[in-house]
Amino acid sequence: MENLSVQLTQNPKEKPAKGAKLGFGSVFTDHMLLMDYDKGIGWHDARIVPYGPISISLAATCLHYAQETFEGMKAYRAEDGRVLLFRPEENFKRMNISNERMCIPQLDVDFCLNALKKLVWLERDWIPEDKESSLYLRPMCIGVESKLGVKDADNYLFAILCSPSGPYYATGLKPVKIYVEEQYVRAVRGGVGFAKTGGNYACSMLAQSVAHEKGYAQVLWLDGVEKKYIGEVGAMNIFFVIDGEIVTPELDGSILSGITRKSIIELLRHEGYRVTERKLSIQEVAESYRCGKLQEVFGSGTAAVISPVGELKWGDEVMIINNNEIGPISAHLYQELTDIQWGRVKGPEGWSVEVKE
Ligand SMILES: *Cc1c(COP(=O)(O)O)cnc(C)c1O
Repeated sequence: MENLSVQLTQNPKEKPAKGAKLGFGSVFTDHMLLMDYDKGIGWHDARIVPYGPISISLAATCLHYAQETFEGMKAYRAEDGRVLLFRPEENFKRMNISNERMCIPQLDVDFCLNALKKLVWLERDWIPEDKESSLYLRPMCIGVESKLGVKDADNYLFAILCSPSGPYYATGLKPVKIYVEEQYVRAVRGGVGFAKTGGNYACSMLAQSVAHEKGYAQVLWLDGVEKKYIGEVGAMNIFFVIDGEIVTPELDGSILSGITRKSIIELLRHEGYRVTERKLSIQEVAESYRCGKLQEVFGSGTAAVISPVGELKWGDEVMIINNNEIGPISAHLYQELTDIQWGRVKGPEGWSVEVKE
């Protein structure tokens, strides 16, 4: 690839041993990708360099005004040794949607994808071989202009970090308890809920930590105006199976358009299921529960793939879903998506992208 320089590390780190507990996002590989943007020049100086801290001004716009976006994706090692990505161009397209909202310049999707592949190939020996482990990839854009005025920056940094990560469910796929949040909100229409940007996560941490203390894994966000309609969960989209209909909230600008969400909708529709994207109130969910029509609830996202929900707590009401067991549609989707991601089955054209020399 032209205009991508590579500077190899002189001090390669020891890779985690096979079978080591990796957790999520705390170990980083030997290299990272960086690229600068300067107003009047555009993106330039894409480079793979040894992984390590960088120097930016404490007055950088990302630090004060959260002018930043990020992505989350994975590189998977198939049993036959192939290195695979899952719909990676979707991540860079989404990053451009986030960037537009946050006044960060557009990226060249093809260039980023090729640069990512080059980085993943260089770091391929870091992709864990353990079952359900992967190399988590974190593209990010930050405003780095040194200026305290509240205005979009003239200078940006794009980076990709690679972090070998273990299975999301250390003890196997298990239903989680979810707390329906009625005090705090995450996003409103017209705001930045549809963008993968830091502020959405900073503002979610208090509710998340209160829910944690009460024994819940995540919070379910309701719409920011009426606190009536279902939005999404933490860093996952959410699906409900109600009387045979699979319902997920419509993309109204306040929720993140998940690539796992989109893939699930496409797979299920192809298989003949009835999938509806619409407004869904927590009231409707509770009513369907009371009359025995709430069959399954599950979250979807790159990290967990599918996260079955065993319990929903809304005010004084506790809804135990499918006997606190994994439902058939959740189990089917988990198997199908992970089979495609790890290259055990082929999947729809273009979903699985092999990284080669
Ligand atoms: C990343 C994310 C998701 C899931 O998106 P995927 O592309 O499926 O990983 C859902 N909601 C939020 C808020 C997210 O940040």
